[in-house]
Amino acid sequence: MDNFLSVRDLRVHFPTPDGVVKATDGLSYDLARGKTLGIVGESGSGKSVSSSAILGLHRGTNAQVSGEILLDGTNLLTITDEEMRQRRGKEVAMIFQDPLSAMHPYYTVGNQIAEAYRVHHDVNKKAARTRVVEMLELVGIPQPDRRVDDYPHQFSGGMRQRAMIAMALINDPSLVIADEPTTALDVTVQAQILDLLQKLQREFNTGIIIITHDLGVVAEMADDVLVMYAGKAVEYGPTKELLTHPEMPYTWGLLSSVPDLTADVDEKLVPIPGTPPSLLSPPKGCAFHPRCRYKDQVAGDLCVTQQPDLTPGSRGPGHLKRCHLTDPTVPNEEEVARS
Ligand code: SF4
Ligand code: MG
Repeated sequence: MDNFLSVRDLRVHFPTPDGVVKATDGLSYDLARGKTLGIVGESGSGKSVSSSAILGLHRGTNAQVSGEILLDGTNLLTITDEEMRQRRGKEVAMIFQDPLSAMHPYYTVGNQIAEAYRVHHDVNKKAARTRVVEMLELVGIPQPDRRVDDYPHQFSGGMRQRAMIAMALINDPSLVIADEPTTALDVTVQAQILDLLQKLQREFNTGIIIITHDLGVVAEMADDVLVMYAGKAVEYGPTKELLTHPEMPYTWGLLSSVPDLTADVDEKLVPIPGTPPSLLSPPKGCAFHPRCRYKDQVAGDLCVTQQPDLTPGSRGPGHLKRCHLTDPTVPNEEEVARS
């Protein structure tokens, strides 16, 4: 596979008066051009932090970042701020959950997208506007030559998200990071936006990292899934295998809490019992052990005393899991159905 993005042992730590918050603690993954990686976890699992490091958003903060983020062979962690600015938007772009807060209320949608374009292209305003109208048309905004002059609040939520996608793709980046891109939208619009992203991905051959707590989104979009817990990957592999035969109890827990996508919009996830651990002082041993129903099936008190490594799972090449359980059929589907 031609991986144009390789993240190696990425750590993003925040020193605080109470100690170091290890928001991302040794994360590694790869992404090929035109493919999608889903990063899944509860809030506070480190999934957003790890991806904002790719955009260099930790720069100028007190975050301690180490490891490697290789994009087309260049380590994004060692380039200068100026080089990072050059690449941001042009090679890596971001789609946020809430376009209303990502867009400026006082400028027209068209002007904001044009600005994003002109940062990387030496063109006059008229040429930029023409390009913006083309992009708005491409993302399915009706009457783009008129709507280009609207302000963000004049767009519906779905249209704003389409405009955000236009803004992210206008410079044809090789990588787009979409952080909960459809969470604020109702289910029908959500499906349309995911379809649009997939269509544009094929057209532009864009690599996508989609950050979500929603395994329905992952099932629809992602080629590979990385499940995060307490700043670390706990399971990683091809989506189909991982969503049908996960081997780490936390992934099972996420699966059994997936809402029916066709059900009422207000239906919330059935949470996994307990709360995500503090990133300041995660539990010793396996960070998931206080919430795990399977730790008694592991010999001795291994789960409580020793952190499991990320080791090959049984679902073929590329499947990794962080769990002491040796029998991959435990936990099993009946258990999940009963839970
Ligand atoms: Fe549960 Fe132990 Fe596996 Fe952690 S290592 S998920 S506590 S069985
Ligand atoms: Mg987040």
